[in-house]
Amino acid sequence: NGASVETNDLAEPYLLGWLASVGLDVEYVRGEGNTLYYRDSEGREIPVVDYAGGYGSLMLGHNHPEINAHAKSLLDGGIPVHAQFSRHPYANEVAQALNAILRRELGDDAEEYSAIFANTGAEAVEAAVKHAELDRRMRMDEAYAAASAQVSAAQAAGAGVGAAVVEALGLPAGAGIEVVADEITRRNDAVRQRTPLFLSLEGGFHGKLVGSVQLTHNEGYRAPFAALAAQARFVPRDRPEVLKEVVEAERAELLGLAVEDGTAVLVRHAAPVFCAFVLEPIQGEGGIRVIGREFAEEIQRVCAAVDCPVIVDEVQSGMGRSGSFFASSRVGLRGDYYALAKSLGGGIAKASVMLVRRSRYRREFELVHSSTFAKDAFSCHIALKVLELMEADGGRVYRLAAERGQALKDVFETLRTDFPDVVEDVRGEGLMLGLEFRDQTQSASQALRENAGTFGYLVAGYLLREHRVRTFPTASAVHTLRFEPSVYLTDEEIAQLETGLRDVCAILRAQDGERLLLP
Ligand code: PMP
Repeated sequence: NGASVETNDLAEPYLLGWLASVGLDVEYVRGEGNTLYYRDSEGREIPVVDYAGGYGSLMLGHNHPEINAHAKSLLDGGIPVHAQFSRHPYANEVAQALNAILRRELGDDAEEYSAIFANTGAEAVEAAVKHAELDRRMRMDEAYAAASAQVSAAQAAGAGVGAAVVEALGLPAGAGIEVVADEITRRNDAVRQRTPLFLSLEGGFHGKLVGSVQLTHNEGYRAPFAALAAQARFVPRDRPEVLKEVVEAERAELLGLAVEDGTAVLVRHAAPVFCAFVLEPIQGEGGIRVIGREFAEEIQRVCAAVDCPVIVDEVQSGMGRSGSFFASSRVGLRGDYYALAKSLGGGIAKASVMLVRRSRYRREFELVHSSTFAKDAFSCHIALKVLELMEADGGRVYRLAAERGQALKDVFETLRTDFPDVVEDVRGEGLMLGLEFRDQTQSASQALRENAGTFGYLVAGYLLREHRVRTFPTASAVHTLRFEPSVYLTDEEIAQLETGLRDVCAILRAQDGERLLLP
């Protein structure tokens, strides 16, 4: 297939070989705004418009001049990047800034959120999950202790036992309080020891670490590692009735006793078996799918009824990409937790944070969770700069995201109108857009049929080669191309993309698949 890979490459040569097979094995030598440059065989810089946008980490583009200048001044000033276990006022400033944004978008009554810093998106998700589990266990222990105390009190009172209790517990007729107490303890121990349950959405993506990959729906990523961590139940998007069914099937209770007129009666306490519902307000890797307001409300209702915290994964949709800082605020979804990453680091730092609602916050978490690199001065100061840039001029960045996104979406809609036989769907909000092509598994073109499983990568290779446009399919839906450029997207850059996409659509209409392959 013409792939040429250095034989001594030890850094993922297999992946590189695969990229080479579709013409994506380019080395970029410089980045600026929405442009990446590679060198041709004569050493000249060739510009490429970057719609992959660092997979969502470049809301403000490559090497934003103010961010870079700030980074240089921090380093020139001898900033203590790593000063763990000391005062970190800049981390508090980031947390305060995020809280101010939350209050603006959710309403003034929004509760405060505490911040735990991390380095990557998956890490922020896992920190939220880990905190949720600490909180769940503490609630479970409290409920268990309360139930046990009731049982002990009934025993100490030498309470009698009614037939209803004996029957409800499936015990032999005439069983006394000691037998009842043993049976309740056995049942409560079993509930307490149950593995925590996670709820997530079909198509969801929450990272690829040991814990987070089990929340990621894509089977290829998840299944080989299922034995390593707790499993999630996946709920179909926009099917709230399934959510209710899952919750009904899994909910559990702890049993206690009350003594009435000298006789013990059963008391049922809801047991916190649900650790968290984790979801993206706009699914990224699942094909750019926006969660609807009604579904968001249903999730909120069902979760509240069983005291299951909601973790809103804004790793890709957040940081203004949707036209609001938090995409979830657009559909009225309020998280108990939020995860942010990607553009938080301004395209140069690795930074992420999870926010947890005060009423759920367990301060004990601070003593059991940390990372050498998290909450460092450099990434916090860069994050502050990013937030300052985003909030400037009454949120010009968010307005730009909405306006530039609409300009881009208009082009996609025109393509859909002109090529209904080729374009399946256009989705997304702001600068988080997806263009879905029709399935090619039954294509008249052998080349398209044979490559249907990697279709999006074929198109991406062609766009790069022929039109100097860089994009990729979403990770779990390869017929959908992703478009996540920075807010500085120009009309010329949009026009360049349109030319490329029209060319691709014409090729697909003609079912001339060979043309998409590497020459
Ligand atoms: N959550 C979402 C919604 C994401 O899109 C991603 C990355 N694509 C992650 C989590 C994981 O982030 P990271 O790659 O930084 O671990």
